[in-house]
Amino acid sequence: MAMRNGVCPICNSPEVYVGTTRMASIRAGSYGANSIPVNWAITAPLENFVCADCGYVESYILEPEKLEKIRELWDRADGEPNHKRKNDE
Ligand SMILES: [Zn+2]
Repeated sequence: MAMRNGVCPICNSPEVYVGTTRMASIRAGSYGANSIPVNWAITAPLENFVCADCGYVESYILEPEKLEKIRELWDRADGEPNHKRKNDE
């Protein structure tokens, strides 16, 4: 079960709320604390789901181009070499 479906995966509560700072982040640039740094120049705003019962937070990046950048720049979590990595920095 995912919080996107409105149910907390930790405590099974239906008291899940969603907040996005997508528009605020675009307006305010890196001022928006509700975002994740992709690299030194790129920040991705987050959509956050919060369980009002246990406090669990789940966050998603909404912009496909930011996800593509992460594919290019970040390490793979499984330790495999990142073949999509570009050496453009
Ligand atoms: Zn919960």
